Amino acid sequence: MSVISKNDDNLITVSKFGGTSVADHQAMLRCAQIIKNDESNRVVVVSASSGVTNLLVRLSQANVSEAEQQQLIENIKNIQFNILAEIDNSKVLENKVLALLSELTAYAQAQSLNHSPRIADAILSFGEQMSSLLFAQVLQSIGVNGHTFDVKQIMKTNDLYGQAVVDLEKLASCTQAYLAEKLTDQVIVTQGFIGQTADGHTTTLGRGGSDYSAALIAEALNAKNFAIWTDVVGIFTTDPRITDQARAIKEISFGEAAEMATFGAKILHPATLIPAMRKNIPVFVGSSKEPEKGGTFIQQTVESKPTYRSISLRKEQTLVTVKSPAMLHASGFLAKVFAVLAKHELSVDLITTSEISVAMTFDNPTGSTQALLNSTVVEELEQLCEVSVENGLSLIAVVGNSIHRTNGVGTNIFDALSGINVRMICQGASEHNLCFLVNEAQANETVEKLHNKLFAQND
Ligand code: ADP
Ligand code: ASP
Ligand code: MG
Repeated sequence: MSVISKNDDNLITVSKFGGTSVADHQAMLRCAQIIKNDESNRVVVVSASSGVTNLLVRLSQANVSEAEQQQLIENIKNIQFNILAEIDNSKVLENKVLALLSELTAYAQAQSLNHSPRIADAILSFGEQMSSLLFAQVLQSIGVNGHTFDVKQIMKTNDLYGQAVVDLEKLASCTQAYLAEKLTDQVIVTQGFIGQTADGHTTTLGRGGSDYSAALIAEALNAKNFAIWTDVVGIFTTDPRITDQARAIKEISFGEAAEMATFGAKILHPATLIPAMRKNIPVFVGSSKEPEKGGTFIQQTVESKPTYRSISLRKEQTLVTVKSPAMLHASGFLAKVFAVLAKHELSVDLITTSEISVAMTFDNPTGSTQALLNSTVVEELEQLCEVSVENGLSLIAVVGNSIHRTNGVGTNIFDALSGINVRMICQGASEHNLCFLVNEAQANETVEKLHNKLFAQND
């Protein structure tokens, strides 16, 4: 029988802390205090300490010399040992971290002999493994009964390394079997981002995936609340790093926030809101540095539904245009193109078509562990049609409400875009967004111009 649904059903908050929130001991202490201040905080999901996953990504690549390997591991060790140094009586913990580092070294050596995506994921998992050990100890240091829990016991996935897909049924049953009963007297600290195949191999869910892991756990536990603690005081009208005119949003609907995340607002991993929406769990986003400043509530219904809510930006986009006279008045051509993409597990973001050509955008981020558009895919498409590939583009999405039914949206947006070369536009498929593609060099300027136009008017 489910321990959680018996009587504690509504009492649990799942809290996720991102990389900067667990970057050093002081940051971890602030997060531990947040947990201590609210008794409903029973499950903590942590990312790797800031910078560690990037170092691991490099370590997992094919062309790393032995000297570089050692340097990377040394850098990772320094980040974790700086935290350890501030924790009292940490000898046992230090040995656990050292054991993880020697396991990591063995994987890195194996990887340099015979590179594989499976070992790459094993390597990437060490950041979260170490930060979760350290965070549980920091909780204990302030009198909270924190214990590390190996998420691989519950986060079972397929073997699509780098972007593994979680088995939701197993997650639900394993959560009840192995995790739920612990919550009566412990605060559980577990790892975001990582999972495990049925035959025991470590997987990862894609960069930034800790948000998604935490949302899935909140869903599996039927949590009352889900809190994402990060380095900004909530969701803003656009990335506050792009313009200081960006303003924090008090509340936003699931639908709008999901569109923001899909179109690149780094604050939320794109899949984060799917589990929260399935169980209608309200999501809070706030700053672990300034929790007193409040944050953004993402929920099913909100009072205001402004036409313009926010602007998202996703860099490193590739535009592929396929062209074939065979498309003229023909059917089945698009199916063949998409069969190639499906075979390589590539997903298309924007798409526009004309009589004999189709233009599609793909996400191609550096440091990604996901399937990317590569020369094999292009060669296979070339068997079907003429293919042109343009890199160095950025996707910008204006997110809001009833965008497709509001007069004057186009005028406002195109006014703001004067002087900008717009490469592609998509509107109409969703009531929540209008998207377009610009050159990366003009991306930030475009967001600033749009923000000035759309949000100054809204005051
Ligand atoms: P974490 O490590 O906590 O997961 P991330 O770096 O992944 O944090 O996400 C937080 C960052 O997201 C912020 O520092 C901010 O620069 C960026 N960001 C992008 N779009 C937005 C937005 N609309 N509102 C707030 N932050 C945003
Ligand atoms: N540590 C992983 C990353 O940097 C996952 C996360 O932080 O969400 O991508
Ligand atoms: Mg993140």
